[in-house]
Amino acid sequence: MFDNLSEKLGGILDRLTRRGALTEADVDAAMREVRRALLEADVSLDVVRSFTERVREQAIGATVVKSVTPGQMVVKIVHDELVATLGSDGQSIDLHAVPPVAIMMVGLQGSGKTTTTAKLARRMVQRDKRKVLMASLDIYRPAAMEQLAVLGRDLDIPTLPIVDGQKPAQIAKRALEAGKLGGYDVVLLDTAGRTTLDEEMMSEAAEIKATANPHEVLLVADSLTGQDAVNLARAFDQRVGLTGIALTRVDGDGRGGAALSMRAVTGKPIKLMGTGEKTDALEDFHPSRIAGRILGMGDVVSLVEKAAANIDAEKAARTAERMRKGQFDLSDMREQLLQMASMGGISGLMGMMPGVAKMKNQIANAGIDDKIIKRQVALIDSMTRQERKSPDILKASRKKRIAAGAGGKVEDLNKLLKMHRNMADMMKAMGSGKRGPLAGIAQA
Ligand code: GDP
Repeated sequence: MFDNLSEKLGGILDRLTRRGALTEADVDAAMREVRRALLEADVSLDVVRSFTERVREQAIGATVVKSVTPGQMVVKIVHDELVATLGSDGQSIDLHAVPPVAIMMVGLQGSGKTTTTAKLARRMVQRDKRKVLMASLDIYRPAAMEQLAVLGRDLDIPTLPIVDGQKPAQIAKRALEAGKLGGYDVVLLDTAGRTTLDEEMMSEAAEIKATANPHEVLLVADSLTGQDAVNLARAFDQRVGLTGIALTRVDGDGRGGAALSMRAVTGKPIKLMGTGEKTDALEDFHPSRIAGRILGMGDVVSLVEKAAANIDAEKAARTAERMRKGQFDLSDMREQLLQMASMGGISGLMGMMPGVAKMKNQIANAGIDDKIIKRQVALIDSMTRQERKSPDILKASRKKRIAAGAGGKVEDLNKLLKMHRNMADMMKAMGSGKRGPLAGIAQA
């Protein structure tokens, strides 16, 4: 799976990780190779362009974390961008609706629609313990109806009895009624496909959708058809409306162009992938796992993640140490403000800390909420280094200038300084061997 692409990207990045330092020209050269590899993998041109541009920007702007090489950082950036391009994790089939939940399968003939319907039914019955009914709406090909019935018998999953002369929308209605009467959790509707995309197929699908009001409309698309699969998805989504994509024959797809372009081009998530002919060859589509398979450099990615986490921990430990010594200046407070903002707000954090009820009130009185943290930070940013270290030196005229520079009022600055004083005092009091309360949070 994705073998060709994996091999090429692996080679390019491997050469990069072995170098000591990276120049902008090195990154550019590598991105040219990545671009070629992605285009050869049949990834859509727009996707390739924005992918390499995003990687390039980050690779050049990245601060290299101690203990990893610049090349290893680039591997991590490529990995994260692959994940972002593939979509986000946890986008699976949604069954949160009043049963029977209707799931409609659409797509071209031969894409693997009937097989995928049976695979999905099998998984819902065996893994999720749901009661599932399958129905074929392909009135044009009796063999297709029979194929689903055979699969159903093999798996011991009921299929809707075939009634000659009914239209697809009528069959869908009958399937849902049978689903309701029989106490089924899910009804899978396997619609008819044609060999090429045509208006008749689209209008039939739209009619079935209007009748059955399915909770999921899944396009079954053959990954081997590359960009054709992506164009098909776009057309189906515009005309019928899709909730997701089931990509089949991923087991034989050495390139990966459809998988990599689908989400970015259509905005629809790949929810399932078929990885073989047997009815158990169905997997959820996890972008992070797929990115891992494509790159095959999981050890480098986790190495960089660990190194980055260490840096954060070291920084927090240094701040904690300064607090213990009563050296909590406005630069430290700035760090803390930003950290608190990123951790879900001050009031929530304060509530979790024992013994800071008094300070909590003070903060509430000072009117600090997350929206004005930005303003607080801007005020601190307008000060000189010396002022941040010893705010006592601030005179009234200087305070006015600082406030004006940050687009705030002197009153705001005074509140900020008072809050800093209170925090510093409290930390000194709690110090003498004990850890400051904010430091504890910062490391949690
Ligand atoms: P339909 O016309 O869209 O209903 O397509 P079918 O379900 O009949 O599938 C066509 C062929 O593709 C069958 O031979 C399937 O066994 C095969 N097939 C379907 N899904 C996959 C898959 O994920 N991997 C592989 N290797 N073959 C598949």
